[in-house]
Amino acid sequence: MKTAVALTIENCAAGADGRVIPVDIAAAKALAIARTVSETEQVPLIAATGRVLARDIRAPIDLPPFDNSAMDGYAVRITDFTGAGPWELLVGGRIAAGDVYAGEAVRPNEALRIFTGAPVPDGFDAVVMLEHCERVGDRIAVSKFPRRGENIRHAAEDVGANSRIMDAGAQLSPQRLALLAGQGLDAVEVLRKVRIGLISTGTELRDPGEALGRGQIYNSNRVMIRSMLSVSPWAEIVDYGIVPDRQDALAEAFGEAVLHCDVLVTTGGVSAGEEDHVVSALGHHGGTLDVLKVAMRPGKPVKIGRIGGMLFAGLPGNPNAALVTFRQIALPAIPTIAGLGNVAPDWSAAVAGFAYDKRLGRTEFVPVRITGRDDLGLPVLDMLGRGSSASLMAMALADGIAMLPPDVLSIHRGLPLRFESLCRS
Ligand code: AMP
Ligand code: MG
Repeated sequence: MKTAVALTIENCAAGADGRVIPVDIAAAKALAIARTVSETEQVPLIAATGRVLARDIRAPIDLPPFDNSAMDGYAVRITDFTGAGPWELLVGGRIAAGDVYAGEAVRPNEALRIFTGAPVPDGFDAVVMLEHCERVGDRIAVSKFPRRGENIRHAAEDVGANSRIMDAGAQLSPQRLALLAGQGLDAVEVLRKVRIGLISTGTELRDPGEALGRGQIYNSNRVMIRSMLSVSPWAEIVDYGIVPDRQDALAEAFGEAVLHCDVLVTTGGVSAGEEDHVVSALGHHGGTLDVLKVAMRPGKPVKIGRIGGMLFAGLPGNPNAALVTFRQIALPAIPTIAGLGNVAPDWSAAVAGFAYDKRLGRTEFVPVRITGRDDLGLPVLDMLGRGSSASLMAMALADGIAMLPPDVLSIHRGLPLRFESLCRS
């Protein structure tokens, strides 16, 4: 049994003094907690999309494995091209892709009909394109003097056997999988998936599909967080469902997560109220907090901490606050756990098409829609929801989120802003 540690907002290392930290520092603290998983597994190539390579890979074979034709045409020997053109050659044989040329002796002044991908027999040093040949009966007249090696893909010109073709930590994209398949590999060793525990805290919550009683609301955060992670093939969700606002219930769920997860994401219950038990449940399992309050809106009470090697992200319950804090602070640290290293945030330049007053020293994240382009082609943003952070509708209508910087008091039309897209196809 673990001894209960009375971790409270007052005594935690991150914020005994109640310090509010900037968003980027909070994200850096989350990143500093992230440790890359070490276990690996063998997966079939066909199921490896987006997974992270565990070891460097050396090429088992040359690519291409043999000299082959890059064109449909005629394989020729340059020594047969004497005197002035056009040069006349007898067509002595035919080789298609997949054929093995038996290698019958080819007489001087003979060419071979050859097709793309077919092996070029020894002694032949160019393939003449069909367009440069005129066929008359069993002969061709070649109008252009061939260059040595023309239209031949030489063995090992793409990849030499035993050369390093991929580094550990590479994410397996379709084109990288194509290379591995080209090397004859049917399975690959990847880092195991990052196990991300998810707990929706709140006695008032019911899952969609259930009947809604008085004072209850539906759980929006569960599907939202899961959906955000569903695009990451290296992530595996361990969903603990809804846990009511009771310290014992939360501590029990945390106990399970500590045993199985690399990351624990909770929503709700991180403010300082009597019904907020997330921090004490963390303390119950020996956890500590690195981030206590962040100078942002929405999401100020977001908590980042750790239990042993597990990264803990306690997001506020308001779905917009959960969305913004997850995207800005917790999510960027998770690829590091997956073995992908630091992933640069994906944002683009835009300009405000609205006016808005905010508080100095606080970064605000607001839902926006793109209404057009300015003279330079930058997207012009309109703010949705008038700053109400609890609106599910505004966020659902938004094309993305605009970051309103901490050192700006008033947003005016034309002000450059960072825009992060929420849309993906
Ligand atoms: P909390 O952070 O627990 O104080 O919750 C803040 C607000 O968000 C409250 O109005 C909660 O009812 C609401 N809330 C908490 N969790 C969820 C959730 N999973 N889905 C939708 N709303 C939630
Ligand atoms: Mg709550």
